[in-house]
Amino acid sequence: MRYAELILPIPLPGYFTYSIPPSLEGRVQPGVRAVVPFGKQKYYTGIVRRLTDTPPEGIEIKPLADVTDALPVVTEVQLRHWEWMADYYLCSIGDVMKAALPAGMRPEGSRKEGLRQNYRPLTETFVRLNPALLEEESRLHEALDSLKRAGKQREALLRFLEEAGLTPESTAAFSEKGPGKGEKVPPLAPLPRSAVQKWTSPAVFAALAKRGFLQCFEQETGRLDTTPHATLPPHELNPAQQTALDSLKAQFRERDICLLHGVTASGKTEIYIRLIAETLRAGHQVLYFLPEIALTTQLTERLRAIFGSALGVYHSQYPDEVRVEIWQKQLGPAPYPLVLGARSALFLPFRRLGLVIVDEEHENSYKQFDPAPRYHARNAALQLAAYSGAKVLLGSATPSIESFRLAREGRYGFAELKTRYSRVEMPAVRAVDTRELRRKKLMDGHFSPPLLEAIGKTLAQGEQVLLFQNRRGFAPMLECNACGWVPRCKNCDVSLTLHKATGRLVCHYCGYSEPVPALCPSCGSKAIRPRGLGTERVEDEIALRFPRARVARMDTDTAHTRRQYEQLLSAFSRGEIDILIGTQMISKGLDFEHVRTVGILDADTMLNYPDFRAHERAFQLMAQVAGRAGRRKERGEVLIQTRDAAHPVIRQVLSGDYEALYATQLQERALFRYPPFYRLVYLFVKHRDPAVCHAASAHIGSLLRSYLGSRVSGPLDPVVARVQRLHIRQVVIKLEHGLSPRKVRELLRYALGELQSHPEFRSATVYFDVDPL
Ligand code: ADP
Ligand code: ZN
Ligand code: ZN
Repeated sequence: MRYAELILPIPLPGYFTYSIPPSLEGRVQPGVRAVVPFGKQKYYTGIVRRLTDTPPEGIEIKPLADVTDALPVVTEVQLRHWEWMADYYLCSIGDVMKAALPAGMRPEGSRKEGLRQNYRPLTETFVRLNPALLEEESRLHEALDSLKRAGKQREALLRFLEEAGLTPESTAAFSEKGPGKGEKVPPLAPLPRSAVQKWTSPAVFAALAKRGFLQCFEQETGRLDTTPHATLPPHELNPAQQTALDSLKAQFRERDICLLHGVTASGKTEIYIRLIAETLRAGHQVLYFLPEIALTTQLTERLRAIFGSALGVYHSQYPDEVRVEIWQKQLGPAPYPLVLGARSALFLPFRRLGLVIVDEEHENSYKQFDPAPRYHARNAALQLAAYSGAKVLLGSATPSIESFRLAREGRYGFAELKTRYSRVEMPAVRAVDTRELRRKKLMDGHFSPPLLEAIGKTLAQGEQVLLFQNRRGFAPMLECNACGWVPRCKNCDVSLTLHKATGRLVCHYCGYSEPVPALCPSCGSKAIRPRGLGTERVEDEIALRFPRARVARMDTDTAHTRRQYEQLLSAFSRGEIDILIGTQMISKGLDFEHVRTVGILDADTMLNYPDFRAHERAFQLMAQVAGRAGRRKERGEVLIQTRDAAHPVIRQVLSGDYEALYATQLQERALFRYPPFYRLVYLFVKHRDPAVCHAASAHIGSLLRSYLGSRVSGPLDPVVARVQRLHIRQVVIKLEHGLSPRKVRELLRYALGELQSHPEFRSATVYFDVDPL
């Protein structure tokens, strides 16, 4: 008897063994899907990992119920990559399968109802000429003859023949004198019924169908765009771009990974385009990653213009059915040679992957926080490329400290673009000292006179303004001036954010909301005031100061869907908005001609955030937002409002000195034992009952400490210690590079299992976050 080890989409560790019944023998191989019973009630679709002759002992082994595929739908490289991911990120391989495979490819069900198919192929009704009319030359002629007294039907049939591909001459021949010797009806294409109905009335169509001349049938059409696209050659590179490209190509001969550090608007994308073109010409595939939010029509169209229908786009906001079809296309004979996608494109099958591009490689959104697998798409892409024998190009104007260090140490190749493509100078960046202005009572609400002046001048010239405030809502909190009361979330340990448009107080962690009270519920005072600054408030205040300007706001409240986001962007690019206010959404990859002034309203909140990466992030955000100014024609201007104009990070942003940021960050990281010098792993324990949460985290904390000593700190309360009614404790583990990663992972997994073996802790949610951000 042979057995199959399967991956099932459930959060339990390991593989699940089933026997192969004789009826399915020969159909089971690694990578195919199989349907299996699980427990008493359920059916799952799993992936066969391997075959074996020796089943595990002491457990009941059930037979496979069915095998879905004739050929693997998950490649060997993918399976290895899934295994690496489960191992590295300390989750189950079932978690990885669930994240990787579109839901439509893994139907589940119960014993009673069977599998619920949640993918349906898209079909369309087509119309064809009755094949019998094509068998002999004279039959079609006779058919047309028989319609002599039904003029409309005859006309419709003739039109059909022409639309379906018969030449006008042949059509005439068949309709009038009958075909000459050996004249045959060539193969005719079926036409969509919707098209035919545009030029026939329902009655005429029904009559032709009734006579049996036309036949309807259903055909699978698919959801993917198959229209051919005209393409253009790529742009000529300028000398700096050419040098960087040549250098990258030379380095790729010896290395697998390179970092391209190019200032904003230096034309990194053009370099990617050249490398993509060469890779495709060599017959290999390219996977091009962008952070979800930067995946705009702007870039898709730029790539479409050059690569046409070779380009496929894949991201998690696509309907599941579309994702299923892209997956199947990638397995088929004509896969997309170039796939542009967000994080989840990592999981698509590639047979000839030659190059992976990770644009904006420093972006946080490459990291998945919840649910497992909590992976970093850049790091996972590096692994995938290694398994596939592909090269990787990382690109950024503000690289992550980790990647830059590897480049500095010579582990990655490296190239630089220091000037903007259009030769416009980098924007002039100024700090505005709000502490001083406040003391002199010169601040106008949240605006400094220099910022207001710059906005006024830009508007007068008919140019555009971006204002950045990384907080949505009106104000991050409400406060009673009489007693100090602050409204807090019922479910989480955070204060509620005031949203003026909806008149509600909202929790940004769990979504809970309540109306704004008229009086302080604690002392009855009327003096409740908003405190702090959100984008809504910026919008309100700016509209008062520039009543004639057209103002819009871009944050997750106004651009919740991709469509709203695109609409705001295109309105801005058509010049229908003068001032665009936004959160970090406005910092990503936007390329607009007329942005002259960028205002950063409050740098301090970013700088003071309690996290060891706060300075790195603040620099990246400010440099990226600043990079939206003056990209093509005239030099732009950036004003940063801060109470601490002498802060080293502010000075680094002013001088655009990434290297200085890098140097100070390295010193701090070394001193406080943080990445890239140490590997970080967080352990989270969550429970409704604070006592269980404390006991469980203390238990696993001391177990870990008994093995790893002072590398373990905590358990402690994270910044937000309760979310959605769950109390949270965190253990921080810092691992030096000398330790064997495999042994450490074994130990961590063991500790988790040990904790879960205690019945009193079994109801706690416990997981690791490896390389957390
Ligand atoms: P980055 O990706 O470095 O931010 P982009 O590639 O978006 O920069 O380039 C910035 C602008 O300059 C874009 O509008 C782009 O079309 C233009 N550009 C860059 N390189 C070229 C080139 N070689 N020829 C023509 N236009 C270019
Ligand atoms: Zn009060
Ligand atoms: Zn909440």
